[in-house]
Amino acid sequence: MANNILVSGIEIEVKKKNIKNMHLSVLPPDGKVRISAPLRIKDEAIRLFAITKIGWIRKQITKFENQPRQTEREYIGGESHYVWGRRYRLEINYYNHGRNNVEIRGNRLILTVREVSSKEQREMLMTEWYRKLVKEKALELIGKWGKIIGVKAQSVQVRNMLTRWGSCNVRKVRICVNLQLAKKPVECLEYVVVHELVHLLEKGHNSIFVGYMDEYLPDWRIRKNILNGFIRDRYVK
Ligand SMILES: [Zn+2]
Repeated sequence: MANNILVSGIEIEVKKKNIKNMHLSVLPPDGKVRISAPLRIKDEAIRLFAITKIGWIRKQITKFENQPRQTEREYIGGESHYVWGRRYRLEINYYNHGRNNVEIRGNRLILTVREVSSKEQREMLMTEWYRKLVKEKALELIGKWGKIIGVKAQSVQVRNMLTRWGSCNVRKVRICVNLQLAKKPVECLEYVVVHELVHLLEKGHNSIFVGYMDEYLPDWRIRKNILNGFIRDRYVK
């Protein structure tokens, strides 16, 4: 069971489990705060526990905020870039007349740009390419899973979110997925899409929600772990 509490402006996820002691963690990649607590403990006790630890929590969050999200990219030839969980070697082509282009050939990711293009311009080109990739795949998955689950999302947005892999606006029937999913195995995007579509049936992360997930995507936990494992990997470097 999970619910969120707000302590000194910091959102903390509370998970009640069959454990003896409270456990506090600040999680990668963005410093999400979680308290695991024994089943019978009162919410007030959890809140007090969080207040006594607030200094430490803030320090941990700041650490995550100052940490680069991944190895800094320069967008020069030879760099590794990920697409759907696969690693590609970046190759830069220059043009004088023509247009910007991103293309996969074998295990090479070929960026065609003007020689004078800046790192920021190349990064933006890649970002928009990733966005298109995720949008197309997400639309396909929403179509497929919408039929299976029996819901219809009105639209999908792809955003570079810092704290979430996806979100669902139940009132506007709108789904949002994280642009960074383009770098993870496509099974991860599928998991996020199914998760958000199931929210159209059940808003909370309760047993009903988990029941739907188990029914529609029995291996969702594995996919979730892959997604989170990939995040951790980035921080090992
Ligand atoms: Zn959710």
